[in-house]
Amino acid sequence: MASEFVEVVLPLPLQATFTYRIPPEMRTLPIGVGFRVIVPFGRKKFYTGIVVGLPMSAPSGYEIKDVAMVIDDSPIVRNPQLKLWEWVADYYLCSSGDVYRAAVPSGLKIESETFVEVNPDFDFSAFPLKNDLENEIYQLVEHLEQTSISEIVKKLDRRGTAASVNRLVARGVLIVAEKLVERYVTKKQTCVRLAPGLAEGEAFARVGSARKQETLLLALLDLSRQVAQGGTQESAAADIPKDRLLERAGVSAAILSSMVKKGIVEQYTIEINRFRYDGRPLKKLPVLSEPQQEALEKLHLLWKEKDVNLLHGITSSGKTEIYIHLVNHLLRRGDQVLYLVPEIALTAQLTRRLQEVFGEKVVVYHSKFSDNERVDIWKKLLASHEPLLVLGARSSVFLPFARLGLVIVDEEHESSYKQFDPAPRYNARDVAMVLARFHGAKTLLGSATPSVETYYKARQGKFGLVTLDKRYGDVALPEMEVVDMRRAREAKELEGAFARATVRRAKEAVSGGKQVIFFQNRRGYAPMVRCRQCAWVPRCEHCDVSLTYHRALRQLQCHYCGAVYPIPQVCPQCKEPAIEEIGYGTERVEDELAALLPGVTMLRMDLDSTRNKHSHEQIIEAFSEGKANVLVGTQMVTKGLDFKDVEVVGVLNADAVINYPDFRSGERGFNMLEQVSGRAGRGDGSRGRVVVQTYEPSHPILGYVASHDYEGFYNDEVEQRRKHFYPPFVRLIYVYIKHRDRAVVARLADSYAGRLRQLLGGRVFGPDEPAVARVQNLYIRRIMLKIEVNASISKIKELLRQTYLDLHSDPAMRQATLYYDVDPQ
Ligand code: ADP
Ligand code: ZN
Ligand code: ZN
Repeated sequence: MASEFVEVVLPLPLQATFTYRIPPEMRTLPIGVGFRVIVPFGRKKFYTGIVVGLPMSAPSGYEIKDVAMVIDDSPIVRNPQLKLWEWVADYYLCSSGDVYRAAVPSGLKIESETFVEVNPDFDFSAFPLKNDLENEIYQLVEHLEQTSISEIVKKLDRRGTAASVNRLVARGVLIVAEKLVERYVTKKQTCVRLAPGLAEGEAFARVGSARKQETLLLALLDLSRQVAQGGTQESAAADIPKDRLLERAGVSAAILSSMVKKGIVEQYTIEINRFRYDGRPLKKLPVLSEPQQEALEKLHLLWKEKDVNLLHGITSSGKTEIYIHLVNHLLRRGDQVLYLVPEIALTAQLTRRLQEVFGEKVVVYHSKFSDNERVDIWKKLLASHEPLLVLGARSSVFLPFARLGLVIVDEEHESSYKQFDPAPRYNARDVAMVLARFHGAKTLLGSATPSVETYYKARQGKFGLVTLDKRYGDVALPEMEVVDMRRAREAKELEGAFARATVRRAKEAVSGGKQVIFFQNRRGYAPMVRCRQCAWVPRCEHCDVSLTYHRALRQLQCHYCGAVYPIPQVCPQCKEPAIEEIGYGTERVEDELAALLPGVTMLRMDLDSTRNKHSHEQIIEAFSEGKANVLVGTQMVTKGLDFKDVEVVGVLNADAVINYPDFRSGERGFNMLEQVSGRAGRGDGSRGRVVVQTYEPSHPILGYVASHDYEGFYNDEVEQRRKHFYPPFVRLIYVYIKHRDRAVVARLADSYAGRLRQLLGGRVFGPDEPAVARVQNLYIRRIMLKIEVNASISKIKELLRQTYLDLHSDPAMRQATLYYDVDPQ
């Protein structure tokens, strides 16, 4: 007998799942785990919930409400996905609602406050609206341009309005409004073909003496033939767009309609995908070099015993080429592959490289895509058991894979795999390994500078380890030149952010027709401004930080909350016109370079220059094509990019990278410098050069980078971690408490830590005030927990939860924000 109830997870930060009744009239509908239902929740709100269970009875204690609508006739979330959500919620100490919210694109989870608008590309001639209510809704939305669903429900006040809106969204008549700068709506295109099973002769017979219909039929057959001959391999190219057909035939849409009615032709729609393969001939697989081939064979061998392998290959050793071979192997076997990259900037270069080999099988997914595009990709995966390669940033671990065979995590050491805010605060690399396990798939972690945690596991034999220590073509790793900034200053050889020696190297490279990258880890013009007379420094009103000067925008910005302020002409404190810039951001570096290297062309890549969806791609492409001599950028330029003509890489302020006050500073510094140097000398065999400016030339990290000695660095670092009880020897959990009042947050954090100490003893450290102690008007305290690696996560979760509930009797706690960051980066 079918169940009367459904258990539902809602896209809200709530621990619980909720039970709803299926009203009798819906009990004949198919419904099961992974289906979406619209349910009321709270006062007059409704949400799209996902069914996670079909209990035979309802819990007592609260009123059981009815499901308002069953949206799907098949699940939109697969079983392994739900299992993964649960795992993420457990491990990262958040709710499965948090995970659901992050995992599913908003176009699939309509709620009261979702904004919708009309789809300008919808083809009404082929798919008319179905009833008055739909018509009314459509007109209302068209009139208002953009409106929330709760607004529509309020204005129309008719039964079933919410459900109808939902159906209109599902059919593509209305679309979920985007907040992005650039919008992209999936284009649906109406196409025309002969009615199925109808022979040409029969078609002409049905047309009879209708001249215009005959013209249209001839045009259709003519176009079909052209497409069939000119088309590439697959028949997908044989779609004849309606517009094109009508134009060719020179007849009106009415003629077409009557032919549809007579059953001579039929209309159907296709989606025009931006990433549709453009039909170029597919390239052959690269021929692997001998060391690459050996590495590949070793990987296959190790996977017979291990689920996870680490490919430790120095920069430009050809890891990507090995991935391509693996992907090929898996796709041929009929499996799907997830290929994770840490940074959207990387997908542009890679998409092309992969599409050249795998054509239409490549699917790209990341947060710069509009929601509509993401929904498209979700549905494509849901509908398909075919071999596909998904290239994506961290959120792609949540896609509905059907038969995942392999997950590749490139640059596995990257901290951008960790989501810091909001919950779920997950590390996509670690979630990817769990995802693979749930699918019975294998994982490959790749890096030139593996994270200490990963390398430790590889050394321990938990992961298989394959090493590639030669660059492709045997090009030498770049030579490092340390520029002592103190000495340069004494010798008066500084020009702003640059030592003369650095500029000289850049000049040599450019005059030899080569390119240069400068790395400066601050964006904007100057990280701070100050009054020369009275030392006044402008600070954010909402956060405890000084403001960054952005000259192009003529404003001061808070990089923590985004607030902007005008730049004062005179100092508001002493009234002198004595405001000066302190320090160097990428904007200023670019500016100074223009004066130091006249005539040299430059590009800049940082968060500010890449706000638009395709700006990453454009900058990278322009630089690859040699349209500029110099690229200036933040850490975005360090990661995985492959430029052939870069001879010199300059690191302007290495100290800022090495001396960040945090247990990971050594690791982060080594990785960043080694990675950035890896951008040099990737091309035709000439050795690259890295120029590192520092006030601490004898820092041990610089020594390891100079000799490209990962092992040396690792051995040193892992001993430090062992000695001071840091990962991989313990698991870290940070507890954050935030409150508007400084004294209150201090008190709350103290009592929270005190309570935790009773339960966990010496595993509890703090509370501490972080370096930036207030953000967006909230004061912050942090408690650190060091937990044994093998401790039971559910026990810890229970302890934390109990502590939280205990403290909830304190009314101040109710105004506080509390969350956990597990495995912080
Ligand atoms: P990594 O990912 O290890 O940094 P890549 O795979 O990007 O290295 O390779 C570095 C460069 O060498 C790329 O331009 C790549 O095309 C080239 N290369 C590497 N291996 C081969 C190969 N087997 N055949 C042709 N080119 C290769
Ligand atoms: Zn002043
Ligand atoms: Zn601020």
